[in-house]
Amino acid sequence: GQALDSGMGVAWFDADYDRESTERLHLAGELRRALDQGHLTVAYQPKVELASGRVVGVEALARWPHAERGMIPPTEFIDVAERTGLIRPLTLAITQQALAQADAWRRQGLDLSMSINLSIAVMQDASMARQIVALVRSHETPPERIIVEITESQVMEDVERGSGMLAIFGAAGVSLSVDDFGTGYSSLSQVKNLPVQELKVDRSFVMDMASNRTDQVIVTSVLRLAEELGLRVVAEGIEDETVRRMLEDLGCEQAQGYLFAKPLPASQIPAAVKDIEARPRPDAAAPLPLR
Ligand code: C2E
Ligand code: MG
Ligand code: MG
Ligand code: MG
Repeated sequence: GQALDSGMGVAWFDADYDRESTERLHLAGELRRALDQGHLTVAYQPKVELASGRVVGVEALARWPHAERGMIPPTEFIDVAERTGLIRPLTLAITQQALAQADAWRRQGLDLSMSINLSIAVMQDASMARQIVALVRSHETPPERIIVEITESQVMEDVERGSGMLAIFGAAGVSLSVDDFGTGYSSLSQVKNLPVQELKVDRSFVMDMASNRTDQVIVTSVLRLAEELGLRVVAEGIEDETVRRMLEDLGCEQAQGYLFAKPLPASQIPAAVKDIEARPRPDAAAPLPLR
């Protein structure tokens, strides 16, 4: 009885485990090939200055066009890349494309900051940090216009090493940003000690701000904290005009979201910038559902 039961339990567990790890291995193999063949691309999402309505920069987001499965989102492959070490070639490929693109736009007269997402695995590898700094140096776009984003939860996993690596970028003049802010439970003193210039409020707090009082309180306190610390705040995931107006009213400097544009192929960015900047500035007369 017992032996059979536990035997079956083990067999069950193993079957599930095997299927999952086989899928992962398969995906990792395909990702390795896609990287070797230069198939990974970058989508760019505009970052908008709320007070002026101007596009001040873009964020580079990895995209994997797959023959059978269509576009595989980064939420499905970054994790696999981190577990297999493929995150290093992936990060270099994305960074290289993004920096070349920033230079190309700059030559066309489009001056955009370029934000790049880095995993902690990359930040903790001093040789990776140096390679990325070398890449930045070999491009025309000034380091101050390059922004390295790292998620709050990843920085806080190992604050000492995290801030050590951040310092390498800081010394090279690259700007630093804490991504998905508000989800990582960091204390105020920890944020104060990080050498960063920007906080990106996670979209889970921004999306329902218009109707959710708790989200309003969280975003408001992040904005206060940032002002105290002299940090710029970028709100992620703005999807509607009411939230845009609330954020502008609260003094949030910049935002990204589908309201302005989804992440787009590079070729569509110049037209998207024109479109966003041509939108009429809504007048601030109408009352907001604040407080
Ligand atoms: P993230 O850096 O926080 O990027 C924002 C994500 O929110 C993007 O998803 C973007 O498409 C999405 N988003 C932007 N505005 C809106 C909106 O208004 N509504 C909604 N519902 N979503 C919005 P994406 O491109 O799927 O990327 C997911 C995550 O994958 C990124 O989150 C980032 O953490 C990671 N990632 C992407 N590219 C890279 C990369 O090159 N390296 C690393 N390490 N991570 C990356
Ligand atoms: Mg990001
Ligand atoms: Mg984010
Ligand atoms: Mg996010």
